[in-house]
Amino acid sequence: MRIALFAGSFDPITKGHEDIVRRAIPLFDKIIVAMGVNSVKTYHFSEERRMMFLEATFANSPSIEVLKYDGLTADFCKKHQVNAILRGLRNAADFDYEYSIAHLNKHLNKELETVFLAASPEFICFSSTIVREILKGGKDPSPYLPRPVIDLI
Ligand code: ADP
Repeated sequence: MRIALFAGSFDPITKGHEDIVRRAIPLFDKIIVAMGVNSVKTYHFSEERRMMFLEATFANSPSIEVLKYDGLTADFCKKHQVNAILRGLRNAADFDYEYSIAHLNKHLNKELETVFLAASPEFICFSSTIVREILKGGKDPSPYLPRPVIDLI
């Protein structure tokens, strides 16, 4: 089984995240979309709401499993037999960050590969941060959100 992990805080999930996961469906037998739980970080949306958004987005995708996790990604991958970490690359800043994390994960778990998909041009400027700023300003974030999330917000 080829199993991929797509991890993030998803505060909230955007169409950019959704696009990367959907484009990876033909590449893997299963994709685990895992929401990182970090008790030190503060979030805009509660853990329950962020999970609800992920579950709604991938409700009709049988090869996608939504989970929560804490601790090291490399340990989570061992536990769930994950072979590849899936990441999206929007720009050089993403690359610089992702490249060092990929090496760290390789160091911690030799069997793990990191697979990068280039962001689709229409989503390059999409981020959870932008969605949170729009919400704080009382404006409509729908262009940035997966359809089922718009219905829930
Ligand atoms: P976190 O919220 O944990 O910081 P991010 O949302 O920054 O997580 O990133 C999770 C993954 O999703 C990363 O690989 C990131 O590059 C990717 N990603 C985020 N937004 C987009 C987008 N618009 N297009 C493609 N990939 C994206």
